[in-house]
Order: sequence, then structure tokens, then C-alpha cells
Amino acid sequence: MKLQKKQLIYSVVVAFAFFTVYLIIYAFHHRDKNELVYLIFNTYALIAVLLSFLIVLYRERKAKRKKEADRRRLTDMVRNLTAPAMLWNNTFTEAVLNDALTALSGITLRDDFQPNYVIAQFFGRKDLTAAEIDGLIAAKHKEYPFTDAAGKTHDLVWNTCAVETDENGVTWLLSIGMDFTDIRTMQSEIEAYSKALSVSRGQHNLTMELMDVGILLIEQGNPRMFPSEKLQSMLGMPAAEFTVQALRGRIYPLDTVTYDQYVEIMRNHMRNFLHKTESIELRICAADGQYRWYSYRFKVTESNESGRLVAGGSVIDITQEKAKDAKIEQIAYEDAVTGIPNRNKLMRMGKELYQATGDLGTKYWVIVMDIDRFHLINDTCGYSAGNELLKSFAGAVVKQLSFGGFAARISGDNFALILRDTGDDTLPEKAVKRVQRALAKMATGTLASRSLTCSAGYARMPSDGESFENVMEHAEFALSSASDIHGSIRRYTSEMHDSIIQESNLEAELTDAVMRNELTLYYQPKVSLETGEVMGLEALIRWKHPSGRLLSPGSFIPIAEKSQLITHITRFVLNEACRQAKLWQTQGVKPVVMSINFTSTDFYLDNICDLILAALQRNQLDPRWLEIELTESLALKDIDITIARMQELRQAGVQLAMDDFGTGYSSLSYIQRLPFTMLKLDRAFVIHMDEDPVVQEIVRSVARIAAAKQIKTIAEGVETPAQAEQLRAAGCTYAQGFLYGQPMTAKETEAYIRKNMAEHPAGGTTHT
Ligand code: C2E
Ligand code: MG
Ligand code: MG
Repeated sequence: MKLQKKQLIYSVVVAFAFFTVYLIIYAFHHRDKNELVYLIFNTYALIAVLLSFLIVLYRERKAKRKKEADRRRLTDMVRNLTAPAMLWNNTFTEAVLNDALTALSGITLRDDFQPNYVIAQFFGRKDLTAAEIDGLIAAKHKEYPFTDAAGKTHDLVWNTCAVETDENGVTWLLSIGMDFTDIRTMQSEIEAYSKALSVSRGQHNLTMELMDVGILLIEQGNPRMFPSEKLQSMLGMPAAEFTVQALRGRIYPLDTVTYDQYVEIMRNHMRNFLHKTESIELRICAADGQYRWYSYRFKVTESNESGRLVAGGSVIDITQEKAKDAKIEQIAYEDAVTGIPNRNKLMRMGKELYQATGDLGTKYWVIVMDIDRFHLINDTCGYSAGNELLKSFAGAVVKQLSFGGFAARISGDNFALILRDTGDDTLPEKAVKRVQRALAKMATGTLASRSLTCSAGYARMPSDGESFENVMEHAEFALSSASDIHGSIRRYTSEMHDSIIQESNLEAELTDAVMRNELTLYYQPKVSLETGEVMGLEALIRWKHPSGRLLSPGSFIPIAEKSQLITHITRFVLNEACRQAKLWQTQGVKPVVMSINFTSTDFYLDNICDLILAALQRNQLDPRWLEIELTESLALKDIDITIARMQELRQAGVQLAMDDFGTGYSSLSYIQRLPFTMLKLDRAFVIHMDEDPVVQEIVRSVARIAAAKQIKTIAEGVETPAQAEQLRAAGCTYAQGFLYGQPMTAKETEAYIRKNMAEHPAGGTTHT
């Protein structure tokens, strides 16, 4: 291009020179000097006009080409965005939708495509005023409901920015839509997108600044960091001050250790992380002076230009998610009646303390207490008096805590107290006696005529057991060995080993039970909260013990898990559930999804997928009618194996439910990572929902996040119509619980479904 321009100028100068020489020769020939001046003047004026015209023409064409190229680049950029995006102008004459937005909205770009109609679909009006457009740009996130071609409503949050205004005053706007619940997915997309653009090119700032996502680049060996403008404003730190040391000054004191570890990695071991995606979560002092949680997801790459290692990625504010996680944790680990930690928390803490005995050489007493004849208080004085007593008792137990101890309500009237063993063997007895004295004083009001006593059993940790569970079992055994003597306090001794023998008896009996077909399946219905139709059944195992009792899984599954028996039990459940489901289908019962429960021992068997598929094949059951319920802690045991197995099962068409959501780690992010089709909210949510609006909000957002991922939600343990209504209003899809039916025999279940079919003759929809 440059060469052509030079040649042109050169040719024009040469032409001028020739022409001037020609004119001079011509004038000398005619010997008329006036005519010569006149001729030269006229000719040069003409040439000047011609040249300026040509230059104007050339410039205009060049500007036009540049504008076209710019627009093309912009359009390409919009098309390349994986997030739904639209490029449009404020005269509503053009609108470019990328594939993601076309797919989401179902709007196809036909010949009769009306830009203003499309804009109206997204922003509610087709003739937005200049002020409204300014408002759209000024509001960082503007949410508009949008109904797609299939009639489904989405809550799209739009980020809009003005890209350019052309000479005709037409402003081009770029709007990027996102589902705000899905921000984590967006984050990785932005990361991938901004990585694809070279860092030196300015355009990527546009995308970054649109989102509430900061971008941070770190170069190995460089104490300076490179924040995007958004990140600078999020933290109130200008780029010039953004150094490793300055940022450290902003880190929450408890998180500085984590920060320093990462700084060390970035400084000396960055290469180990090449091409890997890593993330770090820290509390940092934000622009408003408050500590907020931020997540930095980054990838290490090698810079093409300098050959240095560069870590680049996005920073998002996860304070709200963290608060929700904390609330979920509170629900999972707090006892609803007394407000002190529950059994889940006890088991977790106990394991940590047991670990500490090995690491730090500390010792503990594990005491288990039980209020004598508590059921009589409940029966004769009522539940509220019983609950009040439990609360006061919990208070008395907690009072015994010294540094490093722990107290929890295990269940019913069962409490645990862990105390540091400082060498005084009488400490547990003294503590229990103090609780007993406090308890005796609680016999006031409706309980005035009662003599209130409690019994206790205790064991020493670690010497009385090879794990925390084991120590607990022994303390509980010490308690139960004297349960008939009120107010007794017993220390576990090895003579009490009968309990172990008892357990092994149960194990032997269970082995026989599998052979003797004493195991059977009960089924509990899952119904649609919208219509009341049965949509699924959960198969729950029962043991018809020769003594005539019907044993619940809680009493024998843990024993079976300790041996290979669990695998036999699971094979039985898998086959029986498939057989029964198929049988009902052939007998004209409405097909519903059959769910079964797995323990981690089963799920991590090498051939588990083959076993499942073989059971389906053997019983000729279509995989979509089978659902496997996995708990979150099971799924997280080995995340890579879990994802691979879950994907294999999903590909085969089997459904996957996350069981007991809210009792484990319960981070919302797992819903995003694991291919579940159903999320089962634990009963704890349902219980707390009644009185706590925050729980309602959590249920609502969990249901919403799940729905965004096409995951259905079901609430467990629904017992009252009020709970069902609250769950329905919160966006939960299904419910399971005593309100709809207890676990029933196969015969009762069949009758139940047939009755339900008669009540819903138009039914037939299922949760596939
Ligand atoms: P889960 O999977 O969470 O099963 C739900 C449990 O909640 C069932 O107890 C059910 O009877 C009980 N439930 C249902 N509705 C209500 C309600 O409205 N209120 C109350 N308070 N409880 C309700 P179940 O049958 O005792 O089972 C306990 C656990 O044992 C199950 O928890 C499951 O994890 C496990 N389990 C059951 N069957 C099997 C099995 O075949 N294999 C394995 N590995 N585990 C099983
Ligand atoms: Mg279950
Ligand atoms: Mg459950």
C-alpha cells in the first residue's frame, strides 16, 4: 500500500516536470511571455482542483473501508462470544445476534427479520428513548424477563456498552446477556475468550469491562501485577499501586498464609502449573473498606512475546455465595431445637480431634449423656415442654466446656461432650455430676413434680478406640450397659467388649439374611408439587428380621458397609428395583422413575457402570426409568472418577440425583460441575424453611440455579401441606415425605399409583 502511494506521488511529480518543460518550450516557440504565464497559471489551477478532488475521493474510500473492517471485526467478536450477545444501534435499523443468543431465544434470522422487533423482545420496548438507552448503559446489570420461542421464561441480565458513534450520529451498542446465577460458567468463558485475544490488543478490555469480573495478569518474576480497570475499581487500587506487596496489605489476616503460598508458587514453581487451571479464594479489603471474598481462577501460559510465564484469569466477588454456603453449613451442622452443633458436626469435629491426638499428642474424654425417661416427659407434658427441657439441658452441657472441647446433640435426648484430658481421671464424672445438678433444678413449672436425672457413659480418646467412631461406640455402649439405673455414670472398659461380639453376630445374621431373602424393598412416592401426580419412587431397603421386626437401613447398612456384604445388598437392590419397575410397566401401571441409593463402596467399584447396565438389560428396563441417588460427600471422594462414571451413566440414559443436599459440604458450585439431573434438598431445609426467611431464600436460589442447569429439585421429608406450598412457591419441582406417603410394600405402592392415576387421568408426564 505504502509503495503504491510513493509510486503515485513520483509519477505525478515526473508528469508535472514534463508538462512544465513542454509549456516552456511551447511558450518560447510562440515568443509570447504573457501567454506563457497565463497558460501555466490556468493549467496548474486546473490540476490542483483535480488533485484535491482525487485526494478527497481517496480519503473517503479509505475511511469507508476502515469502518467496514471495524464493523466486521466487531461483528466477528460478537459472533465469537460464547455468551449470548447482540450488537445493535440506537436507530434500531440493525441488530446482530450471535449463535448463543439465537439458540437461547429461538429467534432465527430470516429475511423478514425486524431489528426493532428483536430489540423489543429483549428490552421490553421497541422504541427505547435516548435516556432509556443511557440508563441501560449506566446500570451495570439490567434484568429483563424474556420468553423464548418455546414459551420458556428466562431472567436475562444485560450488560450494555456504547461501542462507537458514527459520523451520522448513529450509536452502536453491544449488549451481553447472562443468567446471573450462572456467573461461574461465564467466568471461564470470559477467561477463555480474553486469553484468545492477544494481551497487547486493546479490544479485550471492552469485554472485560462489561462484566462484573476483574482480570488479573501476573508475570513470573515481576513484582507488578496487571489488573483490568474493573479490578482496579473493585478493589479501589490503581494499576500503578498494584504490586504483590501492596495487595498483601489488603488480604484478610487469616488468609495471608494462603496468599503467601501462592506468591511462592508464582515466584518459583509457576512452570509446574503450565496449562493448568487453578483457583484461589481469599478475603480482600474492597474499595468500600469491607473485606469481601474473591475467587481468582487463572491459567498459566507462556507469553509468545517475552517467553516468560504468565498467569492470567478472572477475579469475581463470591461474597454472596460464601454467605449462602455458610448458612447451608449452619443448617447442616446445627441442631434445630437447641441451637448447639448436631451429630454431623460432632462426627466431623471428633475426627479432627482424633487426628490431633496423633499429631499433637493431646487426649480427650468422650462423654455421652442421655436424659432418663425423656419420652415420658414428651408424652405427658407435651413436645414444647420437652423441647424447652432439651434447650436448658444443652445449655448445662455446653457450660462444662473448657478450651479445646466440644458439645453436641446427637439425637433425641442424647448429647455428647468432648473434654480435654489433662490427667485428672475424675474429670468426666465431675462434669456429668454438675450437669445432673443443673438438670435437677430444671424441674419447675409443668415439670415441677418430676425428678430429672441423666445417665452417662464415657471413654478416653485415643486409647479406647481406633477411630473417633469407635470411641463413640464404646462411650455409647458404656451408657447403654447401665441404662436401667437412672443417674449412672459409667466408664468404658475392655470387658464391655460384648458389644463387638453383638455386632459380629449381626453381621453373621445379615450374611444369612441376604441368602435367605429376608431383604425386601419398600417404595416411597415422589410427587409433582404442581399437580400432585406420582413421578417417581425411591426404593428403600428393609430387613425382615427373623425376630419379626422390620429393620431400617440405618441399623444394618453401616455394618454391611464394613464388609463385602454391601455389594451383595446393592446388587439385590439394583436388580429388584429394575425387575419391579419393569413388571409394573408391563402391567399397565404408569411408568415412573425408580431411584436407588448407593454407598461409596459400591459407586467406586471398578465395574459399577457395567453392573447397572447389565441389570437394566436383564430386566429390559429403559435406562431413563432408573435413577441413582448419590450423596455429595460420596461424589466428592474422588471427583475425577465420579465425573467419568456419572458421564458414562448419563450417556446410557440413567438419571442421577444428588441426595441429601445440605448435609455435606453443600457448595452450590458442585451443581455446576457434576452432571446431576435431580437435586434432593435434605429434610433439614424443609424443617427450617418454616421459620427462617433466609432458608426460604436459599431454597429459592438453589432451585433457580438448578433450573438454569436443567436440573430438577425435590424436597425430602415433606410432612405438612404448608411446607409443600412453601416449596412449590420457591420453585421446587417435586416432593417426597410422609405427607404423600410413607415407604410402602410393593403391593401397597401399586395400589397407591393406580389410585393416583385415577385422580389424574390426564397425567402421563414423568420426570425424564
Ligand atoms: P435417604 O436416601 O435420604 O432416604 C430418605 C429417608 O427419609 C428414608 O429413611 C425415609 O423413610 C425417610 N423419610 C421420608 N419421608 C420422610 C418424612 O416425611 N419425615 C421423616 N422424618 N423421614 C422421612 P430410611 O428408609 O430409614 O432410609 C434411610 C437412609 O438409608 C436413606 O436415606 C438412604 O441413604 C439409606 N438407604 C435406604 N435404602 C438403601 C439401599 O438400598 N442402599 C443403600 N446403600 N442405602 C439405602
Ligand atoms: Mg435417597
Ligand atoms: Mg436423602
